[in-house]
Amino acid sequence: KAKQAGKNRAQPYAPHMQADALARVHLEADLRIAVEQRAFELHYQPIVDSASGTLVGAEALLRWKHPERGMIPPIEFIPVAEDCGLIVQIGEWVLREAMRQRRDWLARGYPPLRLAVNVSGVQFGETGLPELLRTLLAECDTARDALILEITESVLMGGSDSVEARMRDIKEQGICFALDDFGTGFSSLSYLKRFPVDIVKIDRSFVRDCPDDRNDASLVEAIINMAHSLGLRVTAEGVESAEQREFLRALGCDYLQGYLIGKPLAADAFEAMMAPLRSVAAAPDCTESC
Ligand code: C2E
Ligand code: MG
Ligand code: MG
Ligand code: MG
Repeated sequence: KAKQAGKNRAQPYAPHMQADALARVHLEADLRIAVEQRAFELHYQPIVDSASGTLVGAEALLRWKHPERGMIPPIEFIPVAEDCGLIVQIGEWVLREAMRQRRDWLARGYPPLRLAVNVSGVQFGETGLPELLRTLLAECDTARDALILEITESVLMGGSDSVEARMRDIKEQGICFALDDFGTGFSSLSYLKRFPVDIVKIDRSFVRDCPDDRNDASLVEAIINMAHSLGLRVTAEGVESAEQREFLRALGCDYLQGYLIGKPLAADAFEAMMAPLRSVAAAPDCTESC
C-alpha cells in the first residue's frame, strides 16, 4: 500500500521533471549553436546624470534571437550558459561587441558614452579576463573610465584575495566596477570596504515603492549616504516614475536608469535616440571619471 502511495505521489512529478530536464538539454544545445552563429544582440539602456538629466552612458543588455522562439531574455539562458561554461565565450562576445559599438558611435560623432557591461561570476573567475580586457581596450582605443564592469555581490562572496587582485589589475587599466543589484546580497557593507568598487547600483526592488514606502525610502537614503561617505557614486535602477526621479535627485543619487529614462533599445534605435546629440565631427573620446 505504501508502495502504491509512493508511486502515486511520484507520478505527477516524474514526467514534469523529465520535461524540465529535456527542455534544459534542448536549451543548452540551442545555445551552443547560437554561440557559433552569433545569434546574440546587445540592447542599450540609457543612464543619465541625475542632476542635469544629461545622457552619460548606457548598460549593454544581452538578447538571444532564437530562430523559433524569438527574443529570449537573459534570465532564461544566462544561468544555463553559466552551468555549461558557455558564458565565458558569450561574455567575451558581449565585451567585444559593446566596445566595438561604442567605438563606432564615437567615430560617427555620437557622444562618448560610458558603457556598463554585466560580467558573470563564472566569467570573472576566468584567469584570462584581465588579458582579454587589455586586448580589447587596445583594439578599440578606449579612453579610461569608458568601460564599467557590473558585478554582483556573489562574485565578491568567495571573498578571496585573488578576486581582489584581479579587480585591482582590471582597475589599473582604467576600467571601473559597479556593484549591481546592491542590497539583495549578503554583507554588502564589508564588501564595499574591501573591494575596489566605484559605483553602487541600488537594486530596483528598493526603488520600486519609493517614495511612498517609508522603509524603502529610508533604505535608499541610507545606501546613497553610505556610498557617498565611502567616496562611491550611486546609480538607481528601475526608475519608472517622475516621483521616484525627484526623490532620488533630492537625495543626491548620481545616476538614474529605468523605463522613465528609457527602455533598453536595439543599437539602431538607441542611435536614433542620440541623434540630437550628434556632432558633425567625430567626438573626442573622453568620459567623466567614475
Ligand atoms: P541587471 O544587470 O540588473 O539589468 C537590469 C535589468 O532590469 C534589465 O533586464 C532591464 O531591462 C531591467 N530594467 C531596467 N529598467 C527597468 C525598469 O524601470 N523597470 C523594470 N521592471 N525593469 C527594468 P534584462 O535585460 O532582462 O536583464 C536581466 C539580467 O540579466 C540583468 O540584470 C543581468 O543580471 C543579466 N544580464 C543581462 N545581460 C547580460 C550579459 O551580457 N552578461 C551577463 N552575465 N548577464 C547579463
Ligand atoms: Mg546590470
Ligand atoms: Mg542591476
Ligand atoms: Mg537587477
